Amino acid sequence: MRTILPSEKLHCHNLIGGNWVEGEAGRETVVSPIHGAVIGEVTVPSSAQIEMALQTAAKAQVAWAKSPMKERARVLYNFRNLLLRDIDAISHLKSAECGKTFDEAKAGLMKGVEVLEFALSIQNLDLGGKIEVSRGVTCEYRREPLGVVANITPFNFPAMVPMWTIPIALALGNAYVWKPSDKTPLTARRIADALTEAGLPGGVFTVLHGGARTVEAVIDHPLVKAIGFVGSTKVARLVYQRGTHLGKRVLALGGAKNHIVLLPDANLELTGAGISDSFTGCAGQRCMAASVLLAVGDVESHIQKIIARAASLELGKDMGAIITRAQKEFLVGAIDRAEKAGARILLDGRKAKAPQSYEGGNWLGPTILDQVQPGTEAATVELFGPILSIVRCKDLSEAMRIENSVEYGNACSVFTSSGPLADRVSREANTGMVGINVGVPVPREPFSFGGIQASKFGHGDITGHHSLDFWSNVKKVTTKWETQSDSNWMS
Ligand code: NAD
Repeated sequence: MRTILPSEKLHCHNLIGGNWVEGEAGRETVVSPIHGAVIGEVTVPSSAQIEMALQTAAKAQVAWAKSPMKERARVLYNFRNLLLRDIDAISHLKSAECGKTFDEAKAGLMKGVEVLEFALSIQNLDLGGKIEVSRGVTCEYRREPLGVVANITPFNFPAMVPMWTIPIALALGNAYVWKPSDKTPLTARRIADALTEAGLPGGVFTVLHGGARTVEAVIDHPLVKAIGFVGSTKVARLVYQRGTHLGKRVLALGGAKNHIVLLPDANLELTGAGISDSFTGCAGQRCMAASVLLAVGDVESHIQKIIARAASLELGKDMGAIITRAQKEFLVGAIDRAEKAGARILLDGRKAKAPQSYEGGNWLGPTILDQVQPGTEAATVELFGPILSIVRCKDLSEAMRIENSVEYGNACSVFTSSGPLADRVSREANTGMVGINVGVPVPREPFSFGGIQASKFGHGDITGHHSLDFWSNVKKVTTKWETQSDSNWMS
């Protein structure tokens, strides 16, 4: 389905204490990458408004944490049903503000709903524990909320990435402060309205807009106990350093440069679709996108399959737009520079035409560069666009040396029919996530998402089962009610 763009400018304020409050520190416009026109405007909160928002959140959290988890889960269950009721409208808005296709926007929201469904299971699965550790002495552990927690999200998944953390942090009894991307802030309004309609008490969920100033004020505030961040490595590092310097719990997921190892025995059909869809999906603007193809030996027929599938994509229908004009120009410049550095262009996205009536948007077709040299920009820098760099390797050892040499560590995939070779890649890859004949190896719940090295700062997981320990404290309570007649040193 083609995206329905907003017919009039949307206005979005800050959700403070359950009310939409106009920010006093300025206005920012939202431009759609699809046609290049303004589709919305957000207002940015002043320091005093941020202070008020966090104080209100802290008060609301106390009552929210006191309600039994089953009651909190009931609100989240209503939230799930409202998201599904409004899924098309939310997906059109997401698509309009971040440029992805309607189908991609909908799939992203469905992945968010999957996390929500996982959060609904916490009430039954995370039951705590209590045993008698000695005569008359019991030990119990209880999961307790942290208080006010914050999350800062990127432009490329305006609903999915926030939904990685919103349901889990709320189910555990925290108040949640969300700073959406300044490039894609409009979807936040729909998600917040659904939470309010679901019955979430005012103040438990807060939305604050803006850029670095808002983020820094939130991190620095003593009431904010934990910070989740997803975005570029540059900002992830800044957020991590700022928060941990203040002694706070921070998990900051950063950028990526993902490799796919292609071996000659790989299944042709799996390879063509898996690798092409990986680097063209979301127009390459996702941290799981294939970026470098490590082509081992004679894989010419596989590469022809990848080219054929990528070349068949229609812009605006099968592939979305690039987030900003400046980013599109950067990508075109990166292709020019790779060509000058000796790369052969197998598929040239610079020649692609914008969809009819969307000429003002930021469009770039799928691009495949061959003979890219290791160590060059196209082989090492996160470009964040629909560009696949092919690096030719004489054997698997050379491919793994190249894979291991980058600073990032998000994902690596291998396409092969050999179990032992797939196993070798899965062991030697320097990444947090590995795919075997899967181009976008995103773990599904309850498995956690996340990389290593410069793709993640901090310990633990932001999603999945292990994220419970990030969004809560585990308290251990040891109890004795009476003296034991046969007491020993443990009693
Ligand atoms: P970004 O780092 O520019 O922005 C992310 C968030 O940080 C936004 O909310 C933004 O407003 C805020 N921000 C920007 N500058 C800041 C500063 N100086 N101080 C504090 N906050 C600041 O990222 P982006 O361009 O929105 O998103 C794309 C990046 O996100 C890519 O690098 C991509 O790989 C990464 N990403 C990673 C994951 C993951 O799970 N590892 C998932 C999605 C996206």
